[in-house]
Amino acid sequence: MPPSKLAIAIHKLTSCSGCQLALLNQGIGLLDLLEQVEIKHFIEGGINHFTAEVDIAFVEGSVSTSEDLERVQHIRQRSKLVVSIGACATSGGIQALRNLSDENWLQAVYAKPEFVSSLQHSTGIAEHIKVDFELWGCPITVSQLNHFIQQLLLGSKPQPSGEKLCMDCKRQQQVCVLVTQQAPCLGPVVRTGCGALCPTFGRACYGCFGPSEQPNCDSLANRFAGLGLMPIEIAQRFAAIHSHSPPFKDQYQRWQTIHVREVE
Ligand code: SF4
Ligand code: SF4
Repeated sequence: MPPSKLAIAIHKLTSCSGCQLALLNQGIGLLDLLEQVEIKHFIEGGINHFTAEVDIAFVEGSVSTSEDLERVQHIRQRSKLVVSIGACATSGGIQALRNLSDENWLQAVYAKPEFVSSLQHSTGIAEHIKVDFELWGCPITVSQLNHFIQQLLLGSKPQPSGEKLCMDCKRQQQVCVLVTQQAPCLGPVVRTGCGALCPTFGRACYGCFGPSEQPNCDSLANRFAGLGLMPIEIAQRFAAIHSHSPPFKDQYQRWQTIHVREVE
């Protein structure tokens, strides 16, 4: 009798749907995957069974509305493992930039803000439910997702990698853009996952994969100041995709405070 397939669901909260595409982008590889897993819910792929009980729920998107909050609690109750995929689900995403401001953006952006119902902050799902694994990235990659699923299918516990992007960059023998071009690369504090894509093209990394293990952001930010970046530029460097992750948020607040002090 063939082994039973893993039942999986792919859920979406507030997000752009880019991480779900990592599944569809496998092309023909998706057919191989379907030999091993059964997809119970995946709206992007045309399968709608939100209440299905599953072995693994992959959740894309941040908790930005009260509906998101209800949905993620419901997902937790029906899933043996919950895996957050992408920047939005792991740290609140780009939409978490609103957490850094006291500005009433609803009033500023919408003609009729009373029609918009959203929470004050955008947060990753681990702030609301227990999360078993996190796949970081904006978006996550096909190989990252496949590697994770294969580890589970083999019965081993997936090991998260918090390795720094610089390690990947050096392994590929790329010339360091921070050292040679004085470009404000976040590689020393960002986790690897993209294969050091931007430095390969002579560009500084702006941090799609979130903070690495033990990121020394103080030191890197001081280095950026040494390169001539203004305090507001350093603050903005850390307040991009993962602005709600604690190490990056701390740097944003540190340099934003210096900026405000200087302009007063
Ligand atoms: S280019 Fe960026 S990622 Fe590569 S070694 Fe330099 S600082 Fe690290
Ligand atoms: S910004 Fe950084 S993490 Fe994103 S693709 Fe470029 S090198 Fe990779």
